Order: sequence, then C-alpha cells, then structure tokens
Amino acid sequence: MWQSFLKSCDSWLKPSQGCLLCHDSIERLHLCADCLPLLQQLIMSEQVCPWCAHLSVGGAICGECQQNMPYFDRLWASYHLAFPLHQIITEYKFHKQWSYAPILAAWMQENPPKWLSDLALDGVIAMPLSRGRLFERGYNQSEWLFQFLSTSSLISSQHSKVKIRRLYRPPQSSLPLQQRYENVDGVFSIQNDVNERHLLLIDDVVTTCATLNELARKLKGAGAASVSCWVLAKA
Ligand SMILES: [Zn+2]
Ligand SMILES: [Zn+2]
Repeated sequence: MWQSFLKSCDSWLKPSQGCLLCHDSIERLHLCADCLPLLQQLIMSEQVCPWCAHLSVGGAICGECQQNMPYFDRLWASYHLAFPLHQIITEYKFHKQWSYAPILAAWMQENPPKWLSDLALDGVIAMPLSRGRLFERGYNQSEWLFQFLSTSSLISSQHSKVKIRRLYRPPQSSLPLQQRYENVDGVFSIQNDVNERHLLLIDDVVTTCATLNELARKLKGAGAASVSCWVLAKA
C-alpha cells in the first residue's frame, strides 16, 4: 500500500533540483561538491558508546550507561546533530518539508548500524506520535523515514508492524532535560503481541534517550526479546 502511495506522490515528494543547501548542481546525496563535506563531517564514528551513542574511546560502554543501563539493547545514530543536518531536520519536522524524507532516509543509509545485518528482526517500529501531535503536524516524520528505508535492502517492508498508542504530552524539546523522563513515563501502550520478538525502533533525533528508553521498557515488559534503535541523529 505504502509503495503505491509513495509512487503516486512522486512528483510532490521530489525535492527541488539542485543542492539542498545552496542549489548548486548535485554531486551526491542531494548535495553539491562543496556542501557534501559538511554532512560527511557529521558522520558518527564507531568511537561511541553502543548504548547511548555518546563519544567513548574505543567504543566502550560509557560510565552513565554502566550506572543506568538502558532498556534497549543497542543504539546507533548515523550522524551528530549539528549544522547543516540540524536545520534540515527542523525544516522536515516542523515546516512541512515532506520532500526531505527520502533524502534523510538516504543519508541514514550512508551510515547504517554495523549490527543491522546480524539481527534476525521480527518487527520494525517507527517512533509513534500521539493522535494530537499527528493532527498538528500532519505526518509522522519517523514513519516516513522508515517507509523510505524499507525500500532499501537494509530493512524489509515485510517486517510485521507493531501497533503502539502514545498519549499526548508536551514536546520533549520544550522541556528541561530533567523533566523529559517524567514527561514520557507511561505514555505508550502496546497493541500487539511482541513476546520473544526482536524489534528495531526507528526515530529521527535522540537527545536524552528518555523516549526510546520508555518505549523499550514497555516492549521489554511485554516480553520483547531485544530492542535495537536506529536514529538519524544524536544531539
Ligand atoms: Zn551546495
Ligand atoms: Zn552510554
């Protein structure tokens, strides 16, 4: 269904010709030869904590994660959240630039999780939005990333979808870091059987990992065997 929908939207989903940042002629990934290095310098190296993607020498588990083990099993962020990616994501998420979805999915595919091919996944979950937020925004930005990723060989669109309800709460980005954990407490309810399932969560941006961790907590509580997370960018 999604594949035919995306095809029918082809014309308005196509971003304008030319580099996304300066409209010069495209070299790769919708960027010109001058702007491409700006994205490449944000590529996340493997020198990060495998649980939270904080910088960590040799890719060791960081002190914070050793003290407060997250509920998810691994997390990979394709990029650091900084200029120009930050601005592009803001446009995509808050200013209805839907046409960036296939580009951002392609950028994720440039630096996928190294563990992805070793996972025997049973299901993929795009971070859900509450009904209220979906109504405000008009679309779920993570769901669109997932749909475009699933046209690649990395994620199959055949993976079963897990239905999750999310309650309406103030946006995480509007709150101080401390309050973000309370804000997502109990917001998710899982509608399908996830018992003994190996699941992949897709999200656009991760800051404190509070939302991913709360969803992973619910999934693990419902019996999920593993929860792995792949996000576009880590703040
Ligand atoms: Zn450019
Ligand atoms: Zn960590």
